[in-house]
Amino acid sequence: MARNRPGLPAPQCDPESSGQALFALVKRLFPICRSITGEGVRETLRILRESVPLVIHEVATGTPVFDWEVPKEWNIRDAYIKDMSGRRIVDFNNSSLHVVSYSIPVRATLSLEALRSHLHTLPEHPDWIPYRTSYWNENWGFCLPHALLQQMQDAAYDVCIDSTLQDGHLTYAEYLIPGESEDEVLLFSHTCHPSMCNDNCTGLAVTAALAHRLSERRPRYSYRFVWAPGTIGSLTWLSRNRETVGRIRHGLVLTGLGDPGGFTYKRSRRGDAAIDRIVPWVLRGRDPQARIDDFSVYGYDERQFCSPGFNLPVGRLTRTPYGEYPQYHTSADDLCFIAPDQLAEALAVLLDIVDVIEVGERRYVNTSPHGEPRLGKRGLFRPTGGVGLSGREAALLWMLNLSDGSHSVIDIAERANLDFTTLASAISDLVACGLLI
Ligand code: ZN
Repeated sequence: MARNRPGLPAPQCDPESSGQALFALVKRLFPICRSITGEGVRETLRILRESVPLVIHEVATGTPVFDWEVPKEWNIRDAYIKDMSGRRIVDFNNSSLHVVSYSIPVRATLSLEALRSHLHTLPEHPDWIPYRTSYWNENWGFCLPHALLQQMQDAAYDVCIDSTLQDGHLTYAEYLIPGESEDEVLLFSHTCHPSMCNDNCTGLAVTAALAHRLSERRPRYSYRFVWAPGTIGSLTWLSRNRETVGRIRHGLVLTGLGDPGGFTYKRSRRGDAAIDRIVPWVLRGRDPQARIDDFSVYGYDERQFCSPGFNLPVGRLTRTPYGEYPQYHTSADDLCFIAPDQLAEALAVLLDIVDVIEVGERRYVNTSPHGEPRLGKRGLFRPTGGVGLSGREAALLWMLNLSDGSHSVIDIAERANLDFTTLASAISDLVACGLLI
């Protein structure tokens, strides 16, 4: 993907952002039992802090957050179901998905009938463990393969959930890359899912790598990365930054970036924000089948950023959207469901999006607007005529024609139907020979 990026340094080869490195980071994050609060989130953020010097914030239980409040902090050490022979048939140590997130502590011997209402399975996928939560209703439960439930025939089982649910903190992290302008680009990824890869370890790994790459630059915009639990985390961040969110010019919610599907962009509530033009343009250049969805009221944290009181220009980029793949919110969203190449491609797409954010609204001016300048004598046109325009030559002519100070790069790209790589190269060459300023 070597090419010139207008106004930006040439990309460096960076082992931290190779597909293998991203995959290794996902693999490290995968086993951790994350939830909307607790040590799993802190451990996750400490690992991300090895890539970027993020700042960790702690917000106390009970803190009001708009119509919500920061919940009690949940932590868990162990959990199991033992059969009558004392054998652990369900063991939290094998998968953090085995316990309903936010389960209150329990130690009991229960009949299978009494236990059954606390067991969650997926009959349609009998070998998979489902992901279940009970954040706002105090309850407890186990998640297990349906095939295992069908084998359970003992009269009674010992159950133990060695958890705590008490006053503590909600933990989130921020990392700001200051740019020439105080105008900000917000990049948000949720931190609250236990052992699942696509949702949400891929988002954590790719955003950390993106932050690492951008930290080497002095961009035009300031880039603010936020890693926080879903819903209550983005709400908490918004409530603590209410006075400054007006600086956000572009934003993306990022997760689900490692599955084999194509990319999907969900537009902001505004629908016509610059980010709603930038991302589709980048995706079109890479994948003609890329899907663009209109805003809807359900989804990830774009729901909060795009709530009517904020209405921020924040869209969402994923591969296959949540809920549209059978592995979603199950133990089958594992390391086999994602691949290094898909993670690397997601990072490359995001780097392209950043490049377009940096230059997309720029309005260049043609310094030789009276008639077409002679491109051949500058080495920009093929010496042999009569063979039709190449895409690159078309990009040169469109840039020269529409760079009258009133058309942005995005305007020109959309009007001429040009992909980003071709247009970026044309801009770079025209700037280099003084035809564009
Ligand atoms: Zn999810």
